[in-house]
Amino acid sequence: MDGKQEQLQQWIAHSGNIVFFGGAGVSTESGIPDFRSVDGLYNMHYKYPPETIISRSFFDADPEEFYRFYRDKMLWPEAKPNAAHLKLAELEQAGRLQAVVTQNIDGLHQAAGSKTVYELHGSVHRNYCMKCHQFYDLDFMVRGEGVPRCPVCGGVIKPDVVLYEESLDQATMEAAVLAIARAEVLIIGGTSLAVYPAAGLINYYQGSRLVLINKSPTPYDRRADLVLSGPIGEILGAITV
Ligand code: ZN
Repeated sequence: MDGKQEQLQQWIAHSGNIVFFGGAGVSTESGIPDFRSVDGLYNMHYKYPPETIISRSFFDADPEEFYRFYRDKMLWPEAKPNAAHLKLAELEQAGRLQAVVTQNIDGLHQAAGSKTVYELHGSVHRNYCMKCHQFYDLDFMVRGEGVPRCPVCGGVIKPDVVLYEESLDQATMEAAVLAIARAEVLIIGGTSLAVYPAAGLINYYQGSRLVLINKSPTPYDRRADLVLSGPIGEILGAITV
């Protein structure tokens, strides 16, 4: 165990008020690629960049194309929690971790057993009829083809996922801010901190144990009290609870 890993271990072992804030990098180790990482495939298969397709105006104008992309790139029903998800759930159960704040929509923290999870961008597990507000689960969305319609009233079903042009859920955002503002240890992982609202949320942290875990440098490395570079599953997985 090197010095930085040892330091992280000590801070975790001595705190009962840890908050974790994570981004897409937490799920890539579960085989879920960041849909924003534009590769050649998009150019071949889609007429528009992901940011355009995953926007509210695009959803309203062309739900067929939206769902073609959404089913291909954003639904990963076979994905399983990795060592990072599992360790965070274990830390919560042990009374060390107070909350997980995530930008991911895959529900893997809950699948790992975490209870207090603030999903800033919503979840693919919740879907609702835009007409009668009946809710549908991920299975329902995976089973169908094309634009999913409500069996009750025929309305179009929309994922409870925050699209571009839509605002974040206010209550979720406030709860995340509060958890971060009160945290003793804030661990941030798997995010470049470039996407809104990630950068803004850090500013609420008032402690002196800000930990960044990332594969590549971020603009906040200098502000952190501890920076670990490497796969987050490996780093968190090595923590002893
Ligand atoms: Zn309906």
